Amino acid sequence: MVTKKIPIAVAKGDGIGPEIMDATLNILKHAGAPLEIKEIEIGEKVYKSGVATGMKEDAWETILNTDAFLKAPITTPQGGGYKSLNVTIRTTLGLYANIRPCRSYFPYIHTKHPEMDVIVVRENEEDLYAGIEYQQTPNVTQSLKLITRQGSEKIIRYAFEYARHYGRKKVTCFTKDNILKISDGLFHKIFDEVAKDYPDIINEHWIIDIGAAKLADTPEIFDVVVMPNLYGDILSDIGAQISGSVGLVGSANIGEHGAMFEAIHGSAPRRAGQNVANPSALILASVMMLVHLNLPKEAALIHNAWLCAIEEGIHTYDIFTDEHSKEKVGTKEFSDAICKRLGKTPSQFEAISYGEAKEHKTPTITPSDKPAKSRKLLGVDVFLYAKPKLESFYREISHINVGSLNVQLITNRGVKVWPNGFDQTFCVDHWRVRFISKDKKTQIDQKEVVDIIAAIDRMGLDIIKTENLYEIDGVLAFSSADL
Ligand code: NAD
Repeated sequence: MVTKKIPIAVAKGDGIGPEIMDATLNILKHAGAPLEIKEIEIGEKVYKSGVATGMKEDAWETILNTDAFLKAPITTPQGGGYKSLNVTIRTTLGLYANIRPCRSYFPYIHTKHPEMDVIVVRENEEDLYAGIEYQQTPNVTQSLKLITRQGSEKIIRYAFEYARHYGRKKVTCFTKDNILKISDGLFHKIFDEVAKDYPDIINEHWIIDIGAAKLADTPEIFDVVVMPNLYGDILSDIGAQISGSVGLVGSANIGEHGAMFEAIHGSAPRRAGQNVANPSALILASVMMLVHLNLPKEAALIHNAWLCAIEEGIHTYDIFTDEHSKEKVGTKEFSDAICKRLGKTPSQFEAISYGEAKEHKTPTITPSDKPAKSRKLLGVDVFLYAKPKLESFYREISHINVGSLNVQLITNRGVKVWPNGFDQTFCVDHWRVRFISKDKKTQIDQKEVVDIIAAIDRMGLDIIKTENLYEIDGVLAFSSADL
C-alpha cells in the first residue's frame, strides 16, 4: 500500500538555517516520514531583493496549500522598512499559541537544573509585537502594547487544554499587573476566569519579575507557564539556555488555520557555514510537527533516536563538556548519529511514545466577546509637543472650557507636573493634558472632544495625538495620573 504523502512547506532560512535544516530533513527522510517537501525561499535574500516582508506571493501560496510549515531561522536585515517575517507569518495565519518545551537532560547535558521540565506557552499575536510604533517628537518614541480579551482567552484556554491533555498538574500565569493594571490586568483577570473551568488543574499567578527570577533559579517548581508575547519570548530563551543551550528547544506555532514549527533560536550568523551549529532545536520542532500531523510513530522514532545520541554523549560544541560528553560532533555528524539510532530506545532516559491518545489536536477555542453594558465618554487626553517648559503653553491652555470639561492635570512621561508638580521632575518635549469634568462622571460627546482640539489648534499648539477617556461598565477605563 502506498502511503499518501503529507505536503509541508520548508524554508532553509539564513545563517545556520540551511545546515540545521539539511540535518533535520536527513533524519525525516531516514525515518520514513511520509512528507512531500515543498521548499520556499524566505528571508534575507528576499528582503534585499526589495520585498519588505521577506516573503514573495508564491511562498504564501505554498504555505497556504500545505499542512504545516517547517522553518529554519532567518536574519531580518537591520534598519527601517523591514517587517519581521516571523511576526507576519504568525499574525497573518492566526498562529496564536507558541509552545516551547524547556527540559533538562541531566546528567547527559550540563545544567544546574536537573529536574527542569517547563512548557512555556507564549501568546503569539499581540502585546508589543503588534508593531505599532511611533516617533512622536524629536525626543520621544512610543510602542503600543495591545492586550485583548479574545487574544488572552485563546492562549490561556490553550494552556489549560494543553495541561489537561498531557497530564500536567499546574498552569502558572506571569504578568506585570501591579504596574500595567489595565493591559496585563486584563490578562490576569481572564486567567482567573478561565482557570475556574479547569478545577482539576492547579492555577497560580506570579508577577513576572520575581516569576522570571524563580524560573531561572528553581525551574522545577513550574509546569506549564502562560504569558503575554514579549515575556514569553524572553523567558523561553532563558528556559532553553538554563536547560543546557538555546540550541535545544524547538517550538510549535499553532492556530486553527495553520501551524509552523521552528527552533526558538535565531540564525546565529557567527556560526554559519562551519558545520558546528546544534540542529537539535529544529529536529525537536520537527518531532512536534510530526505529532501535529498525526504521525506519532515517526515522531517517537526520531525523538527516541535523538535521546539515544544525547545519552551516549554525542554532542555538538554548545553542549559539549569533558565531564558529560564523549564525542564532539558537527551538525552533519550529529544528524548521521541520529539516523544510525533510528529504531533504538534510550536506556537511561524514559522512552517516548506518542500514542494516538497523546495526539494534541488544536482545540477549537471560541473566545467570548464581552459587550459592555454601559460605555460613557468622559473626556480626552491631548498629547502636545512643546519644548520642555510648562509655562510655554500652560497659561493658554488653562483657559479652555468646553461644556463641563477643563484641564484636570498635565503630565510629562506619566508624572503629574500640574497642579502641584515638583521642580525636580525631569521633563521632555512630550506633554499630556487631561480634559475631564471635575466629578469624572459627566458624559460628553465627540463634538466636545473636537471643540477642545480645535481650541488648542487655534492657539497654535502642536497636537501629536489624542486618547479618549471612557467609563466602561461603571469603571474608569484609563490609568489614573492623580498622584
Ligand atoms: P541567535 O539565537 O541567532 O544566536 C545567539 C547565539 O546563540 C549564537 O551566537 C550562538 O552562540 C548561540 N546559538 C544559537 N543557536 C545555536 C545553535 N543551534 N547551536 C549552537 N549555538 C547556537 O541570536 P542573535 O545572534 O541575536 O540573532 C541572529 C539573527 O537571528 C538576527 O537577525 C535575528 O533577527 C534572527 N532571529 C531569527 C529568529 C527566527 O527566525 N525565528 C529568532 C530569533 C532571532
